[in-house]
Amino acid sequence: MQLRYKPFELLLKYPFSISGFTRTSTPLMLLEIECEGQIGYGEASMVPYHGESVATATAFLSKVKLDWLKLPFDFDELIAYLDELAPGNPNIKAAIDIALHDLQEKLEGKPCYTYFGSDPEQMPATSITIGMDTPEVILQKVKDAELAKILKVKLGGEADKLLIETIRSVSNKPLFVDANQGWKDRIQASEMIHWLHEQDVVLIEQPMDKNNWDDNAWVSEQSPIPILGDESIQRLADVEKAKGVYQGINIKLMKSAGMYEAYQMIQRARELDLKILIGCMSETSCATLAGAALAPLCDWADLDGPFLTKNNPFPNPDFKDGKWVLADRSGLGLA
Ligand code: MG
Repeated sequence: MQLRYKPFELLLKYPFSISGFTRTSTPLMLLEIECEGQIGYGEASMVPYHGESVATATAFLSKVKLDWLKLPFDFDELIAYLDELAPGNPNIKAAIDIALHDLQEKLEGKPCYTYFGSDPEQMPATSITIGMDTPEVILQKVKDAELAKILKVKLGGEADKLLIETIRSVSNKPLFVDANQGWKDRIQASEMIHWLHEQDVVLIEQPMDKNNWDDNAWVSEQSPIPILGDESIQRLADVEKAKGVYQGINIKLMKSAGMYEAYQMIQRARELDLKILIGCMSETSCATLAGAALAPLCDWADLDGPFLTKNNPFPNPDFKDGKWVLADRSGLGLA
């Protein structure tokens, strides 16, 4: 089994601002794992605030040996092995996991979504994100997102109501809201949530600081719409903590260390009666298709990487009626 990798700078269409950060590109590590004439593709999207980089990913990959793996791959054993090599590093672990799922299903001649029991007919519409910006740029972004049936809006700044009113002046599409921990006072947060409910907002992610479980729980309890933990919920062990605090969780492959553990998180969230949004970082078609393979098992999808970036090295997957189309191709389905 041959492992190859190269850094890639994924350029954003617009400087991306969320509560507290602005950036214009995202460093990636693109992976290829080759075995028996097939190549599995994987990707680590290393947003700076997660703490991973080309240097940390390269250091991690230099320790990885995969020759012990036998088909069908034991992903439970794989994740235990990767966690043993070093704690943390979920982005580069996700890249390995995604590449091995793509490879295994190519060798099996089946799509990844069938491996997880996903029904392409159950694919939820994916939102396209409108980052914080001036009203003029917001209007342009809404126009750019015309293919989307749902818009996702980043709040938690100084001008939250203005931003929503700007969008509502030109669009009545349902909205997902992501506060990215930006609200600091639970009473104000709760008032804002009730106002957003009147603006046809479907769900709200991470209203307050990820470590402030009490205030997030209080805000959730008051809320007429589902409140989801995102930054609070990283890997499988965190799903338990969401119960009684949030009505749902945002699962991302770059947090969960890949598809295998994201699938475990989906199963556990269902047992705990939690709603599920499957989200993403700035990603190419590769990680987007990995998320899309699991999306039919979730309530909502926010897999907009290819819409927000401008040098995706892979062809965009098919997108129809606001949804990713899962192709009848083996592996992830990268064209
Ligand atoms: Mg979020």
